[in-house]
Amino acid sequence: MNIAVVGSGYVGLVAGACFAELGHDVILVDNDPQKIAMLKKGECPIHEKFLPELLHRHRGKRLDFTDDLLVAVRRSQAIFIAVGTPPKEDGDADLSYVESVASEIAGAIDSYKIIVEKSTVPVYTSSWITKIMLLNGAPAELFNVASNPEFLREGSAVTDFLYPDRIVIGADTDSCAKILEQIYKPMANGSYYARPDAIPGPATAPFKARIICTSAQSAELIKHASNAFLAMKISFINAVACVCEAVGAHVGQVCEGIGSDSRIGPRFLHPGIGYGGSCFPKDLLAFRTAARENGYQFGLLDEIVRVNEEQRIHFLRKVRKALWTLKGKKLAVLGLAFKNGTDDVRESPAIAIIKALMKEGCSIIAYDPAAMERAAEQLGPQNVTFAAGPYQAMEGADACLILTEWEDFSALDLKRIKKALRYPIVVDGRNLFKPADMAAAGLNYYSIGRPDVIGERPTPQPKPEWREIIGPEAQAA
Ligand code: NAD
Repeated sequence: MNIAVVGSGYVGLVAGACFAELGHDVILVDNDPQKIAMLKKGECPIHEKFLPELLHRHRGKRLDFTDDLLVAVRRSQAIFIAVGTPPKEDGDADLSYVESVASEIAGAIDSYKIIVEKSTVPVYTSSWITKIMLLNGAPAELFNVASNPEFLREGSAVTDFLYPDRIVIGADTDSCAKILEQIYKPMANGSYYARPDAIPGPATAPFKARIICTSAQSAELIKHASNAFLAMKISFINAVACVCEAVGAHVGQVCEGIGSDSRIGPRFLHPGIGYGGSCFPKDLLAFRTAARENGYQFGLLDEIVRVNEEQRIHFLRKVRKALWTLKGKKLAVLGLAFKNGTDDVRESPAIAIIKALMKEGCSIIAYDPAAMERAAEQLGPQNVTFAAGPYQAMEGADACLILTEWEDFSALDLKRIKKALRYPIVVDGRNLFKPADMAAAGLNYYSIGRPDVIGERPTPQPKPEWREIIGPEAQAA
């Protein structure tokens, strides 16, 4: 099928590349000329496993890039809208990008097409897109609007797209739903997964993607309600972690006990410094506004947001507890991305925490395997020093803070950590280490929802600049 995807950001690019992988002819559209130029040159603008491989496989064959929406619309039977839906100041979703794309599509339409919302949008957006298309002169018989929300996670976006828990098709006519089912057919009938060159996925048994057909409104609500529920799980376990700290319990044990109940499940029960990213924060606010505008005060959502914000403040309190005063302290920060596996720092709790620490007079030396360039844009490169690796970041620092759950960090050599740091202090916002291992390594260790590990009274290591004059061992370090 000929498909256009408008918006070649995180979702659009992954969806477009995966549709090409399924055998469709895809044209990706973006109004950012730099992005289109990069993609045409074969570069991948985001850090995402398997995406460079898919772009390489299909670029110039089944996958093309353009900034010309009219051309893309005319050659396509299905047009997916995957532009951003950022929050407005009042928390409502800013749908102006969606509206502008819809009115442009209306001006270009010359034969029957389906217009599919891929962006996360509030309930009734599909009705608004229909109205806007009609107001801009699109003949009613030439289009239908459907909702096909995307559930991929950054860090595993390609496999999430190709091996989904479900594909939600929200369409108000059978013919429109059938076109979408046709697009996803190689996933629904399992033929894609039988291909020898299929991207490997988490499925061990023969896999078939499940399609759930709903009304457009229900599909829009499914996406908002799913994100709100996941954020609720995170805030819930963070609140439980605070209680664990207050009573001396161990949140890991509590999570195991709760998560083994099949009605609850273990996923998303990981205490930390709260959720971030480009989706949960904005989607919660948009869902709350949509509910309120339709007459329901969804107070539970306010509480989820409050607990999440409090969790960052709680972490800052831990850093203060570990170091006493913060002014003039040099802190090594491991992790800048809002989660592991991505270079995305939008609404990253790590960035918010770094900003708060800098305000208190700390100097920061940071390391992240993928997100340093993007973090520099947000933090100002002159304000933060970026290190070449985790041990370099820790060299001579007063403490190490872990803010993103990159797997590499949990494999760090604890003896080297102790040797590199000025004070043997690790404040772990992601619970990457076992307290017993940290105690054995002689590190003072503060984590989330678990008892602190305080060894002997910490004795400061000599400052790095002193090392040269105190002997060969220090020089070897
Ligand atoms: P993004 O900011 O990475 O990408 C949006 C793209 O749209 C940008 O490249 C921008 O240049 C382009 N664009 C904006 N206006 C345009 C126009 N008029 N014509 C052509 N291109 C235009 O955003 P994203 O993270 O891909 O998110 C897109 C949508 O998908 C949002 O609604 C988001 O909530 C939703 N979503 C995101 C994720 C995620 O993990 N990022 C997951 C599921 C759903």
